[in-house]
Parts: sequence; C-alpha cells; structure tokens
Amino acid sequence: MQEEMLLPELDEESAPFFDYAAAGELRVQRCSACGTRRVPPRPMCHACGSTDVEWELLSGRGRVWSFAVPHPPLLPAYAAVAPYNVVVVEAEEDPAIRFVGNLVGSADGPLNEIDPESIEIGEPVTVVFSSPVDDGLGPVVLPRWVRAS
Ligand SMILES: [Zn+2]
Repeated sequence: MQEEMLLPELDEESAPFFDYAAAGELRVQRCSACGTRRVPPRPMCHACGSTDVEWELLSGRGRVWSFAVPHPPLLPAYAAVAPYNVVVVEAEEDPAIRFVGNLVGSADGPLNEIDPESIEIGEPVTVVFSSPVDDGLGPVVLPRWVRAS
C-alpha cells in the first residue's frame, strides 16, 4: 500500500481489535452480560450498559452490504489511486455487525485493484490482513476484504 494513507488511531478501546488483526484474527467486542456484539469498540454496551466485555472470534466471512466510490477532492495519496472502492461488509454471524474497509484482490494489493463497477451488493467476501503498515506511530495491520472463492 502507498504511504500517506490514513491509518486508524489506536486507543484503549480499539487497540485490541488491531492486536488481534496482527495475529490474523477478526474479533469483535461482545458484551459479557447480554451477548450484544459491538463495532466499533466502545467502553460500554449500548444494549444493557455493562462494561464487561469479551472479544469474540468471527469467521471472517461476510457480504458486501454497501459500497462507495469516493470522488475528488481527495487527499493526494487517494487521488493517485482513484477510482477505488470503500465497502461496508456485514459479518456472516451478525448482520448488525458491519465493517468499513476496501475490497481488494489480495491482502497487500493496491486500493484500486478491483473495478468498482464490478462490485455487487450482497456478494460474499472474506477478510484478509495486510502486512504491517507504519505511519510513524507504530505498525498496524489492516483487515481488508477479498472476494470469497
Ligand atoms: Zn450488554
């Protein structure tokens, strides 16, 4: 991937998600009290108010729930690879759990590897994990999406 792309800011809540990603696992917070899953990570369950949490391992399979093709003005690193896609993927285990990412051809493939016009709502996808990307704040592994084979 190119440099100068926006990377997530890690904090106390989100860091475990990316630690698991670095280990090749897609995990989400799940309330220990009522079982409600939550993405993005938050300190408290929106359903019952509990702060007890576990990190549930997901299959990594999902479907394209929606997608967008960003248009200019874009940051220079993104303008250089436009047109590209941003997909919203719903998890196979729970359609209320959705991830924002990119549909790519391979884990470290360029953002514009997939023709946005070929993407279909509902198509099955599988998570892959990028090589560590470093923006100077430390390496982070990004979950990305490829077409399920
Ligand atoms: Zn709860």
